[in-house]
Amino acid sequence: MSSAQYLELAELAGGFIHELKNHINGLSLNLQLLGEDLDPPQTPRERRAAERVARLTDDCRRLVDLSNDFLRFARVDTPNVVRCDLAELVNRMADFLSPTARIQNVEVVCHAAPDLPAVHLDADLFEKALLNLMLNAQDAMPEGGVLTVQVRPDGHAVTVAVIDTGVGVPADLLPKLFRPFFTTKPGGHGLGLAIARRIVQAHGGEITCHSEPGCGTQFVVRVPTLEPDTQ
Ligand code: ADP
Ligand code: MG
Repeated sequence: MSSAQYLELAELAGGFIHELKNHINGLSLNLQLLGEDLDPPQTPRERRAAERVARLTDDCRRLVDLSNDFLRFARVDTPNVVRCDLAELVNRMADFLSPTARIQNVEVVCHAAPDLPAVHLDADLFEKALLNLMLNAQDAMPEGGVLTVQVRPDGHAVTVAVIDTGVGVPADLLPKLFRPFFTTKPGGHGLGLAIARRIVQAHGGEITCHSEPGCGTQFVVRVPTLEPDTQ
């Protein structure tokens, strides 16, 4: 597919999802009003109805979340880049994730090489990409393990490796990982890696995956550094 065709299709799909999302929001609002009418429930019948309303409200929320993820994916946000300290960004994310990871027996370790060259990044978007990788790493270690994030200079680039000691990816699934809607998780939507890759590519970078089933997986994000005269 040419990129013009892609953009046309993305726009069409984006418009469609946007329209659906408006209707889901309308549904959600009406369900909320119905829930208020049933609160507190006066009879067993009303209690059952209230439970149903709560379940439907939950479904609506999931659909809105999914739509937002899809819109983010389809839109290829143009990154708003500024000079950025990747070591600081990665350390901040590791701190943010550590407390919840610990509950699942996952230890988050962060190594950043000193004196990293500067990179141009849209910090919000880039965080989203890394967060998807880190959450996947956590999901891959249901029995606990170590999530290591390494930031290193590499030629005219900086690499961020997100490494887990989890279940790994079977070789035959590796080519499918970045496809939109590919998921092996019950309740997963399979957009995390597709979004992460689009974000990294929008920064002129690339993302690769190596995995050993039973041992763990490593995703490496590579972003070009600034030219020496713009440092
Ligand atoms: P989701 O997390 O919703 O399933 P993703 O796009 O984030 O969607 O990931 C797609 C699939 O790639 C996952 O369902 C899983 O099978 C596989 N995967 C991603 N990251 C890892 C990892 N660190 N270890 C093992 N499998 C992974
Ligand atoms: Mg995911």
